[in-house]
Amino acid sequence: AAAVPQAGAGSRGPRGLRLLRRVGVVDPASLDEYRAHGGYAALRRAFALGPAGVIREVSDAGLVGRGGAAFPTGRKWDATARQPDHPHYLVCNADESEPGTFKDRVLMEGDPYALVEAMTIAGYAIGAHHGYLYLRGEYPRALARLEHAIGQARARGLLGPDVLGQGIAFDIEIRRGAGAYICGEETAIFNSIEGRRGEPRSKPPFPVEKGLFSKPTAVNNVETLVNVLSILTEGAAAYASVGTETSTGTKLFCVSGAVDRPGVYELPFGATLRELLDLAGPPSALRAVLLGGAAGGFVRPDELDVPLTFEGTRAAGATLGSGVVLVLDESVELPRVLLRIAEFFRDESCGQCVPCRVGTVRQEEALHRIKDRTGAAAAGDIALLREVGQAMRDASICGLGQTAWNAVESAIDRLGVFEPPQNGVSV
Ligand code: NAD
Ligand code: SF4
Repeated sequence: AAAVPQAGAGSRGPRGLRLLRRVGVVDPASLDEYRAHGGYAALRRAFALGPAGVIREVSDAGLVGRGGAAFPTGRKWDATARQPDHPHYLVCNADESEPGTFKDRVLMEGDPYALVEAMTIAGYAIGAHHGYLYLRGEYPRALARLEHAIGQARARGLLGPDVLGQGIAFDIEIRRGAGAYICGEETAIFNSIEGRRGEPRSKPPFPVEKGLFSKPTAVNNVETLVNVLSILTEGAAAYASVGTETSTGTKLFCVSGAVDRPGVYELPFGATLRELLDLAGPPSALRAVLLGGAAGGFVRPDELDVPLTFEGTRAAGATLGSGVVLVLDESVELPRVLLRIAEFFRDESCGQCVPCRVGTVRQEEALHRIKDRTGAAAAGDIALLREVGQAMRDASICGLGQTAWNAVESAIDRLGVFEPPQNGVSV
């Protein structure tokens, strides 16, 4: 899908757009333009607040992770900063690989200095002098722009041994992924950076305690980090005045599929799915919307008033995940969409643990058998899918196996995908 940044017309709050405000406005190669548009004001405020003050602001703002899991960022930073073991590391997870997710790419290509500044603030807060930016291998333009931005920041004393003349050391090293979806899992990133196979580790211990090179590590998604700039420049209270009580701020949504204007949209949490689809130009015959990506869930056309918040989408049986909004119209053959999702998980399973390695194969086989069947003819394989899906959910080591059956289950239970056709029309 084309990654076109869109100013959400429904964007509310004191300053409207936050995350995308410089994208498409400034020259992403120019540090001077970045500074002229507010760049490095947040880092100056961070130095004035001190590390504990920065963490307090981020906690008070209610910021939670935008990679998909919504873990409180302030809690993660505080836990890392408190670890007695040193050195501490920062890892920015820029291995954006969830199918239908392309928001981090837009931020990195359009406003690379924002990520460099935000990583510097995060490193300062957690007491890390070295940050790794783990970048999806298929993002060559983001790589070029980030390499340029890091070089310029270093040349101007904004990275290096004495950032802004404050006696604080911080630098960033880019590491590229090589096409494996599983290398976006935080502990697989550690293995990849350390030169091992990109396979997840068992958690706990969590990275805040034992992460990269077995040292305390904070791992944050690109969008999460860029939010910190607004928190520090506006203040926690102003930041949290946008969105809802439990989902504060704005969110980037990646809209793709059967819409007139696919792209990245920034909206305050609490806007409804209907409002988002109206901006993107919905299809005349909507079948369903897949929220949260391949591991997410389906929303029906009669549920479009669901508020786009973590809690709202969960209550509707879906998930916000990393902001995937995949729109399907009536022309789509849902069993084939599910088969494609199952193929994806079978292909991307690292094979380390049995429930996922075997379960993703069995899931694909069952979906292949029933893709043209309904009712009693599909019942046996649906029972098998439930059994295999539950085993993957309960016994897999990492999120890939634990969620590989989510979308299939959602399509069966919420869309009735394998139910007999009504009026001779099959799903
Ligand atoms: P998770 O819930 O296990 O952890 C979320 C974060 O919180 C991690 O950083 C983890 O280390 C931390 N954490 C959790 N409990 C903790 C504790 N007690 N103490 C300290 N830290 C703690 O989720 P996950 O497996 O890291 O991520 C799953 C999510 O990733 C899914 O929601 C999915 O949507 C998303 N995802 C995103 C992409 C993408 O391209 N953006 C791709 C695949 C999956
Ligand atoms: Fe690998 Fe799947 Fe196990 Fe995750 S759940 S460790 S991807 S085999």
